[in-house]
Amino acid sequence: MNIDTLSVRVGRDVESATGEVTPSIHLSTTYERDVDGEFSRGYTYGRAGNPGRDALEQCIAALEGGATATAYASGSAASLAVFSLLRPGEHVIAPIEAYHGTAKQVRDILGPMGVRHSFVDMTDVDAVRAALSADTRLVWIETPSNPMLNVSDIAAIAELAHGRGAIVCCDNTFATPVWQKPFELGADLVMHSSTKYFGGHSDVMGGAVIVRDRGGLSDRLRDYQETAGSVPSPFDCWLLRRSLTTLTCRVRAQTANAEHLARFLSRHRGVERVFYPGLETHPGHELARKQMRGGYGAMLSFCVRGGREEAFAVAGRLRLFIRATSLGGVESLVEHRASIEGPHSVTPQSLLRLSVGLEHVEDLMGDLDQALQG
Ligand code: PLP
Repeated sequence: MNIDTLSVRVGRDVESATGEVTPSIHLSTTYERDVDGEFSRGYTYGRAGNPGRDALEQCIAALEGGATATAYASGSAASLAVFSLLRPGEHVIAPIEAYHGTAKQVRDILGPMGVRHSFVDMTDVDAVRAALSADTRLVWIETPSNPMLNVSDIAAIAELAHGRGAIVCCDNTFATPVWQKPFELGADLVMHSSTKYFGGHSDVMGGAVIVRDRGGLSDRLRDYQETAGSVPSPFDCWLLRRSLTTLTCRVRAQTANAEHLARFLSRHRGVERVFYPGLETHPGHELARKQMRGGYGAMLSFCVRGGREEAFAVAGRLRLFIRATSLGGVESLVEHRASIEGPHSVTPQSLLRLSVGLEHVEDLMGDLDQALQG
């Protein structure tokens, strides 16, 4: 079935007892046992399962083309669920340039637990090959990356990793399944910060891990989800499932705006460089054209001529773009990433990241123009 249909229909069956077209929110944290002590109706306790969470997970799994999904209270809880698959002495390869919180988990949580890591330029397949060792169990990909929109070759990296007995997890938050299907390119796991495009309205935190095949990894993640307990609330599941119904429309419209703005900025005197994989000048454009599905997402970054101070000045002059972190919502946001990424940041000081929303593109373009004119 087409992704548009899946996003509207999976896990949103008409309620047979009442005829309700819109699913209810299931708040109960506990469920009645049968007389013989069994749970024949399938639910035991809210941390272990909830009808609204099941519906959300079924839908997310379907959108990515995976077998199963587990939902979490945030994207960070989801990445940590993936990292829970690692054991002391094992090795993980992660990108040098990607969401800084993921690298912090690798460094500050996995490190003290005895999991070794290498941060690698994931745009360079030879560098990934060189970093793989007999102990490597996981290769983490984030493409396009946050915030520099680097593109890495999912198929080539998956082939290398599988050849050494490692699995591959792709953070697909920026691309969304509308534009990129990592399972079709060989990934074993896909991870999302549902806080972003899945939620789409900057009003719910969430995360998800999708597994390509049933069995081992899927069972371990399901067990981890219940044991670790960082599950999304019934209301958050409901909000997310509701928002997924409009995912494809939002992402396509936001992407059209972003493509337009990327071209506009690339011609602007006040801009030194634009990072957007849809631009022919982007070093990862050819690869993105091959591995993405006709769109490059609604995130872009650009370096302001004049350095850090001028970048702050431009952000300060913007009126429509809101100065705030996060991304993927209907409202456009701007952020100076280097100043929040911490000491390991490789982001240029002159870089501003835009999360392009659903406002009219001429209004957004006008706003950027007046801010860049000074
Ligand atoms: N992955 C990416 C690409 C992100 O941008 C973020 C957050 O910005 C995360 C993961 C973490 O998600 P959350 O903030 O929902 O914990």
